[in-house]
Amino acid sequence: MIPVERREFAVIGDPIAHSLSPELFAFVFRALGVADRYRYRAWRVPAHELPEALERVRRGMLAGINVTIPHKERVIPLLDALDLRAARTGAVNTIAREGGGLKGYNTDVGGFLRALREARVDPRGERVVVLGAGGAARAVLLALVEMGVAHIAVGNRTRERAERLMKDLQARTGFSRWEVVGSGDPALSEAVRGASLLVNATSVGMHPYPQRCPLPDPSALHPGLAVMDLVYNPLETQLLREAKGRGTRPIDGLNMLIYQALEALEIWTQGELRWEGPITDIREHLAGVLHEREEATCRSERSSST
Ligand code: NAP
Repeated sequence: MIPVERREFAVIGDPIAHSLSPELFAFVFRALGVADRYRYRAWRVPAHELPEALERVRRGMLAGINVTIPHKERVIPLLDALDLRAARTGAVNTIAREGGGLKGYNTDVGGFLRALREARVDPRGERVVVLGAGGAARAVLLALVEMGVAHIAVGNRTRERAERLMKDLQARTGFSRWEVVGSGDPALSEAVRGASLLVNATSVGMHPYPQRCPLPDPSALHPGLAVMDLVYNPLETQLLREAKGRGTRPIDGLNMLIYQALEALEIWTQGELRWEGPITDIREHLAGVLHEREEATCRSERSSST
């Protein structure tokens, strides 16, 4: 019999209303036939309430939580233990109650790797460009280092943040074949021209500003390039549209979202709840939810302009 406290989960962040995770887990619980016993909800936790929120999880209010913007890095000092990927990224997106304490994991790393593998993109020994230096970029960068890429160029609006991140990653993993370029720098276009994979790990292009593109010079996109955008709302971002139009391989962020969630579920339930087989149904369901949300936004914009 599974103890009661192992059945309630949540995602914490601020803001959190936009999160797709409650829809994702509700679908998974229904499909696995456990919707009557398992619950997952969105829980808005402002930064100043983070210690108290984690204390409530520690006391057993929830069996596990996901962590999203802006808490992935700042939860670390509040935890009792970290798994290897969380320690090496310096970011936590999943917390489980283990041995009376809280343990942090980073399932974004595995989610990214599985999504890339499924898209048949193998950047081992290749040059890669990553846009962004936040929590998601940390996971992507560790995954690329684990895969054995030849070189990583990181472009970020705040250059110093990217430099700090890469020095930190080098200290944790020994990986030294990297450079940092400013996001408006011509060196970024050069790096994209010489790369076989470009990953957007910034939030640029996300709802409510879907017309924005994180790459200032899309003419650098070339047919030998695979382009993955972690943003999944909208599913087809401006960057992916540019990529498609230039014959590159576009990969959206939805499969990564699904795989990181399924890995978290296995951690929380110690493998008791496991999704076997393809994720096509989960993907279709979430794409439908995103589509409905987009329609609802358009409707409310139309009615407020009349
Ligand atoms: P974060 O820690 O807040 O980092 C945001 C990043 O975006 C930083 O690099 C930031 O640059 C950059 N940025 C934000 N606004 C910008 C602007 N107006 N112009 C230029 N750069 C800007 O967020 P995160 O957790 O890394 O998440 C980033 C994105 O990845 C979000 O859209 C999130 O939904 C998505 N994500 C997707 C998955 C998935 O499974 N598909 C998983 C994790 C995250 P500065 O350093 O200059 O501020």
